[in-house]
Amino acid sequence: MIKIGEGDFLKLENIHVHFKIRRGLLKRLFIVRALEDINLWFGRSSVLVVVGESGCGKSTLGRVVAGLQSPTMGRIYYKGKPIDKLNKKEYLEYRKSIQLIHQDPYSALNPAKTVFDILYAPLKYWGIVKSKDEAIDKVLELLEAVKVTPPEEYIFRYPHQLSGGEKQRIALARALSVKPKFIVADEVISAIDVSLRIDLMNLMIDFWKKYGIGYLFITHELASARYFAELTNGLIAVMYLGEIVEAAPPSELIHNPLHPYTKALIAATPELILDLSKLKSTKELPLKKVDIPSAIREIPGCKFNTRCPYARDECFKIKPKLINVGKQHFVACHMVNAS
Ligand code: SF4
Repeated sequence: MIKIGEGDFLKLENIHVHFKIRRGLLKRLFIVRALEDINLWFGRSSVLVVVGESGCGKSTLGRVVAGLQSPTMGRIYYKGKPIDKLNKKEYLEYRKSIQLIHQDPYSALNPAKTVFDILYAPLKYWGIVKSKDEAIDKVLELLEAVKVTPPEEYIFRYPHQLSGGEKQRIALARALSVKPKFIVADEVISAIDVSLRIDLMNLMIDFWKKYGIGYLFITHELASARYFAELTNGLIAVMYLGEIVEAAPPSELIHNPLHPYTKALIAATPELILDLSKLKSTKELPLKKVDIPSAIREIPGCKFNTRCPYARDECFKIKPKLINVGKQHFVACHMVNAS
């Protein structure tokens, strides 16, 4: 179990998510193993940054954490209680306290609604405001908080009148409107200009500092993952084909990567390498294959064996366990487990 931070906020125990799909002319049934054996325990104000290639299960993990995707197997606990045992009041509190911000700000905001309508809806739904006048004050306050200013100029604009960065800030304001304890931020910086990414991350980090909001921050960029995790005392988890293959504090992960896949990700991220001399194992790392295998393909043993240059007999037969090698550093690789 990977425990992040102190206290008991949310626990994911032995979570599996499998999807059934039909493919080809014969419409044969295949199973997509989107998540396999995920064990995470989030404390209060905890931050986990998840990195990995597209299709690795990052977004499915985000939806499970936000309560929008039921696991095929496994259990979720909110403040120590299984979510299927929560009473109505506790369940509503659980759903309100974890908010999700989508990857794509263009489709996340209804184009027919103004900024006011978009932010008023959750305030009204959760009974946070009693009147429209109160809602206007609250919406202006939210716009100020996410630095969409002057707020009076933005409150009655439509999404098409906003830039990509402004849209993502409105999505953040919508999440903040219900005073969440935890935000799942699914690739929130990928659709905005590089120059604005740091600003948005800094804003979210400020909310962690000021209000203790925890995050599951999902990204495919290791450099952003490092930045966000370093400034929030978070952990970075590396996912591959639905599994967490390595997790560690950012500095430990970057300077002492143990899993061959993490080493390949670091080698492919030149902008990350600020102090090259200190990095181990970041030389060109040959992968047997560049392409990620299809998620419907069942791979016995270690799922990375089709690409791993170090794969040996046992890697094709036995699945490596995720073990803690110390300093909150977890890895699933036979090479490390044996050493
Ligand atoms: Fe490579 Fe084997 Fe380690 Fe998997 S378990 S990453 S195949 S060495």
